[in-house]
Formats: sequence, structure tokens, C-alpha cells
Amino acid sequence: MTHEEIRRVLMEGCSEELLKAIHCPVCGGGSSFHVHPRGKSFVIRCDSDTTHMHLSDTNPSPPDWWSTYIERGVWTADW
Ligand SMILES: [Zn+2]
Repeated sequence: MTHEEIRRVLMEGCSEELLKAIHCPVCGGGSSFHVHPRGKSFVIRCDSDTTHMHLSDTNPSPPDWWSTYIERGVWTADW
């Protein structure tokens, strides 16, 4: 998937299985997914180099499984 395809599937509320299958579009390595404590904003990054991929957006109706990815420490701005 390209960066924009990754953004689109996450905004469309894709399954957790699909998320786990997403790899970095640049190096093909793993990605990490984090959800803001409010539960609607996400960041997905390349595990090895954030210049490869660092996407963030807000989904007004996120799927339930996002709640298991809520993480406070990674947020520098209060969305
Ligand atoms: Zn990468």
C-alpha cells in the first residue's frame, strides 16, 4: 500500500487484521500504530525511520479495536 492508501483504509475503519498487514511503503518494514487518548486521532509510523512514514489523521467514527492502541506518551500536541 502507498501512504495515501494506508491513510484511506484507516479513515475507512479497516479491520485490525488489515492494520497488522500494513508495512512501511518505503522499506517494507513493520509499522507502529498509536491512538490518542480521546480515541479518534491516530499516528502510524515506520518502525525503523519516521521519515519513511509518519501519517496522522482524525477519524470521527473509529472502530472499537482502536481503543486497545491508545497510548499517551507519543502525543506531543493536544489534539
Ligand atoms: Zn520504513
